[in-house]
Amino acid sequence: MAERREKKLAGSAGNTLAGRLARLGLRRDVDFVLHLPLRYEDETRITAVSDALPGVAAQFEVVVVSCDLVFRPRRQLVVRVQDDSGTLDSGTLDSGTLTLRFLNFYPSQQKVLQPGARLRVFGELRDGFLGAEIIHPRFHVVASSDAGTAALPTSLTPVYPTTAGLGQATLRRLIDRALTQGDLTDTLPADELAKLGLPAFSDAVRLLHAPPPGCLLEQLESRHHPAWRRVQFDELLAQQLSLRRAYTARRARGAPQLEANGTLTQQLLAVLPFRLTGAQQRAWHEIAGDLAQPHPMQRLLQGDVGSGKTIVAALAMLHAVEAGYQAALMAPTEILAEQHYRKLSVWLAPLGIEVAWLTGSLKKRDKAAVLEKVGTGETALMIGTHALIEEGVMFHRLGLAIVDEQHRFGVRQRLALKEKGRFAHQLTMSATPIPRTLAMSYYADLDVSVLDELPPGRTPVSTRLVSATRRAEIIARVREACRVGGQAYWVCPLITESETLQLQTAEDTFAQLLADLPDLRIGLVHGRLKGEEKAAVMAAFAANQIHVLVATTVIEVGVDVPNASLMIIEHAERFGLSQLHQLRGRVGRGAAQSVCILLYAQPLGQIARARLKVIFQSTDGFEIAREDLRLRGPGEFIGARQSGLPLLRYADLEDAALVEQARQLADTLLRETPAIAQAHLDRWLGGREELLKA
Ligand code: ADP
Ligand code: MG
Repeated sequence: MAERREKKLAGSAGNTLAGRLARLGLRRDVDFVLHLPLRYEDETRITAVSDALPGVAAQFEVVVVSCDLVFRPRRQLVVRVQDDSGTLDSGTLDSGTLTLRFLNFYPSQQKVLQPGARLRVFGELRDGFLGAEIIHPRFHVVASSDAGTAALPTSLTPVYPTTAGLGQATLRRLIDRALTQGDLTDTLPADELAKLGLPAFSDAVRLLHAPPPGCLLEQLESRHHPAWRRVQFDELLAQQLSLRRAYTARRARGAPQLEANGTLTQQLLAVLPFRLTGAQQRAWHEIAGDLAQPHPMQRLLQGDVGSGKTIVAALAMLHAVEAGYQAALMAPTEILAEQHYRKLSVWLAPLGIEVAWLTGSLKKRDKAAVLEKVGTGETALMIGTHALIEEGVMFHRLGLAIVDEQHRFGVRQRLALKEKGRFAHQLTMSATPIPRTLAMSYYADLDVSVLDELPPGRTPVSTRLVSATRRAEIIARVREACRVGGQAYWVCPLITESETLQLQTAEDTFAQLLADLPDLRIGLVHGRLKGEEKAAVMAAFAANQIHVLVATTVIEVGVDVPNASLMIIEHAERFGLSQLHQLRGRVGRGAAQSVCILLYAQPLGQIARARLKVIFQSTDGFEIAREDLRLRGPGEFIGARQSGLPLLRYADLEDAALVEQARQLADTLLRETPAIAQAHLDRWLGGREELLKA
């Protein structure tokens, strides 16, 4: 520990070698061993200049013809070189000639680049002003006696990910040292490896750092080589082990066994204007089962937008109340929290149950009153934003903590809630469905219930893609929809770079629509409004006193106004796929045929076009998530969730077969040979395991 702190200090104190290495996470021998090449360069061959293809990296052996320091357009070193290929081919010298251009160089480099010097040059050829050239090639001088192929390396040269000021040569030297002195003993039993058809750890990493002669560049770079498979498997295994272990550790803690008699939940079900779907019933039973256990529930309720997660949460909360405990529901936005508060108040009023409400915008005195009631246990149910997890909030007897739209909270906030309800049951809910293969790793530390069925009577939303130039038509359409009793959302363009600009756009759109639709009542809601202003606008919209709600993405998640059946999204090309899906989920909640119009500005980029096509063709959240994953890649897909999972460096979560094998072995190791599991975790995660606990 002390040693680690020292290195950290050294790193921040200056640009020391230790500091640079720390930036790459390189501390222990094994960190160096696991710092694997990004790609390889083939210096085993020499290419004739006349055979070289632009854009392809290759090695040449050349003789310097001239070396000039040029000052225009800026100071640079221009070195003309040639090899023998031109003369052989065409008899003209020129075709074997090449320019090397150095914008930064040391005097020592200039000194060796003198006419007559023989060089090995590695780089990517391009067509420059003076014909073929290479900018900043790697080179070294070879003695004339070594002309030809005598001293060529026999294996591919690894290229490592690095950071400013840390050269490849230094990294290579340190890695070589770690490979010699480090402990490369296999963490996995030989029989398991044989079963999986994977090579030994030491063989795999040695091969990847120094591919033996004959190893094919393509096979290494596509990462399908068995040595890569071994590394990928190990990484996935470490991930599975730590997730499963975190799960077991939490499970080992005690939690109140919530014994409920079902009176309140039965009463709620009786006053509801609908019957639970089969999926809701299933999920509810799973949750009720967990709550009666003496260890904390760690369950995720996953269900597409509109699948009806809120009522399941309400039932769970009542279950806690029946057992004599408190329950809290936390939502990521004030609008959503407020809406939950209203909905639950309506549902629970006939049962004589009061719900408390806490957000950051509450007046000090009101807040104190709420906190008092929560602290004494007078109030059993509590709904709010992350204000719920702030200091000063003391529950009397918290039995259940629910987090809605959990992916919208940061790791820190989720940890804080976990701390608050240390011994409480936890339910998280998410409308962002993720593909099964990803779920297996991402949610390996949770039990999952899925709502795979929408409540009956929904008509699917029909989606239109319309060029922004046809705005007038769209305005007419909004007027008509509202004339016959409908309501509409008008979603303003997303401007990620500037909140001020985004606000301004929303206000402009609002003013424009007021002018265009004088006969309609129009409201505006955005993130800068005060809590009570926001609440007032949303309440007016829910009560059909506002026809058209102009909104920023503050309405993205959860908002539920079934009478609104038309949604216009401006500059739809700027939104991400899951964002569009969430937004569109605000309509199609009633029986009326709903329409979502995606206005886009020309010209569309390729990715934007692909995204809009997906959202146009599908309304299935899982399908959309799969496409999102395909378009963005798992790193960003998961990163967007701020999962706290250290991103996989080598393995691919879409590699379903390998993920499944890792999961199975993780279970076996944890059950039968925990020491092996520990050794494997140490090797791969070192001291970084705490990241995984969020
Ligand atoms: P989400 O899963 O997106 O949070 P909500 O809980 O907001 O969905 O539910 C969407 C809408 O469907 C709400 O108006 C809710 O009252 C309604 N609803 C929920 N369950 C049912 C059901 N079984 N039958 C009919 N309507 C339902
Ligand atoms: Mg919801």
